[in-house]
Amino acid sequence: MSAMVETEGRQSVLVVEDEESYQDALAVGLATEGFVVVGAKTLADARDILARSTPDIILLDLMLPDGSGVDFCREVFHSRGIPVIMVTARTSEVDVVLGLEIGAADYVTKPYRLRELVARMRAILRRPPSTSDDDFIVFGDLKMDFVRRSVTRSGIDIELSRKEFDLLALFASHLGQVVTREVCLDTLWWGMQLSDTRTLDTHVKRLRQKIELDPTQPRHLVTIRGVGFRLDA
Ligand code: CA
Repeated sequence: MSAMVETEGRQSVLVVEDEESYQDALAVGLATEGFVVVGAKTLADARDILARSTPDIILLDLMLPDGSGVDFCREVFHSRGIPVIMVTARTSEVDVVLGLEIGAADYVTKPYRLRELVARMRAILRRPPSTSDDDFIVFGDLKMDFVRRSVTRSGIDIELSRKEFDLLALFASHLGQVVTREVCLDTLWWGMQLSDTRTLDTHVKRLRQKIELDPTQPRHLVTIRGVGFRLDA
């Protein structure tokens, strides 16, 4: 566990998996790929590890001896913001995982190839696109500070969740241009299926409530029907 804290520069993965063959293979395979790997065979073990450290990403089996990964995924995603890749044993479980909006960044179905898994992990862990050379951007009476990760109106802080800030940063980095729903989902929800866009709409709605003077008549964050959204100065 301490390796997670000490190994600066390497990304850490918590593998929550009760099948020993998978645990063993991933411990070797992911370490070879440069990851710091910590294993847990039960949800209780995983909670224990998370109480002491914060991995960069979690690989989470859906069926574990002491419960389902579904609630755990939701819990981790909302309280810690750690991306989770769900591992399902059957294709039929995939719909369940995606339909529940539990916050999974992606999923793989057993048996999966290490190469495929690593590619997905790297896609999720890649840094968000850099916004601009400037440290802040001003639109209307709002100022977005990328260094402080703050948004202010006339100097007063507007409280945004991490996801809301990231979404607004995405729009702000394309000020005056349309950002498609697909790009939003790919950037913030790592390729969540396009049919499942309620999460995006919810975040846009919440953003409007926070940044628009009249959320029903948005002047900054406008919807381009059937395409996406545009942030106007
Ligand atoms: Ca299992």
